[in-house]
Amino acid sequence: MSVKISELARTCVQAIVPYASARRSMSGGASWLNANENALATDYQLSGQFNRYPSCQPAALIEGYARYAGVAPDHVLVSRGADEGIELLIRSFCEPGEDRIAICPPTYGMYAISAESNQVASVIVPLQPDTSLDVEALTQVEAKLVFICSPNNPTGDLIPRQQILAVLEHFRSNALVVVDEAYIEFAMQASVVDLLQQYPNLVILRTLSKAFALAGLRCGFTLAAPEVINALKQMIAPYPIAEPVAQIAVQALSQQGIARMQQSVATINQLRTAFSAFASELPGVSRVWPSQANFVLLQVPDAAACVSALQQQGILIRNQSAQLGLSEVVRVSIGSPDEMQALQQAMQDYFCNPGVRTPISQETTA
Ligand SMILES: *Cc1c(COP(=O)(O)O)cnc(C)c1O
Repeated sequence: MSVKISELARTCVQAIVPYASARRSMSGGASWLNANENALATDYQLSGQFNRYPSCQPAALIEGYARYAGVAPDHVLVSRGADEGIELLIRSFCEPGEDRIAICPPTYGMYAISAESNQVASVIVPLQPDTSLDVEALTQVEAKLVFICSPNNPTGDLIPRQQILAVLEHFRSNALVVVDEAYIEFAMQASVVDLLQQYPNLVILRTLSKAFALAGLRCGFTLAAPEVINALKQMIAPYPIAEPVAQIAVQALSQQGIARMQQSVATINQLRTAFSAFASELPGVSRVWPSQANFVLLQVPDAAACVSALQQQGILIRNQSAQLGLSEVVRVSIGSPDEMQALQQAMQDYFCNPGVRTPISQETTA
């Protein structure tokens, strides 16, 4: 009798529902506006040979990001995306079956998934209807890590600085407050990086996946007091950053790379403002969440129908209706100027002339 492999897996693995990433859940389509990527991409060159193991924390990359973020190099950890930063924080600070994290949904799904896969419970403190934190409720919670996402995915707006300060102050002696700044380049003035000196319990997550247009690279950063960074280094794999990743990330963090990123952020912010104004005029769109990121959340009459109508036009957007407190909402990532024009045409058709469908052309399905 052969063994049933699925039953060999740990119980918590059998129970887990993996993160439904945009790449995993949808394929095809010409225009990818479902994963908050940056369509304004750049080419990179690699040099040399790759026969040697890379450095665990490549010095040029750590120094490059420290310079960019305005912190000392000993406050920086580089990891395989910000997602690995989330995982390392949970594994380094939470005792399985004992400690808990606090999350404020609707928010990024990986905090709860990483916690669950490490047998760490999540305490849920929902955001207020206006998308600000429920600070009062959060300060009633006992947790090792408190995750705050600002700008928040998928609602798009910033968490007010005063609220982050109140939470940092409250948890000063007993928990780390993790502020996920994956989208901060779209509202750079709102970063709380300046609070790192004052609050040793503050941890900031950053990534090259969004504004830097390098989602395919898998490169993220954790900014925190050296004591926190050292705890994460205890848990990180020996060679998490492949040599080609380090080379490309260093180029992205050069003066020229940062200038290019800032230019694309300016373009995307303009496209977002225009798209939000356009969407708020559409019949049937009853709410357009204010956004400080590269995506916009919309309340529509039927989210699944809207996603599928746009998919038929080769445009992928994301249904976010499964998120706590949200129903019949779609999230649209801001693409290139051409993609936004095509999107607006398709939305105009869908919301204004529900009977009429432009047939999809052969080129866009290829
Ligand atoms: C995309 C995203 C991440 C993950 O970033 P990677 O560096 O690609 O792993 C983390 N947090 C939020 C809020 C995100 O939207």
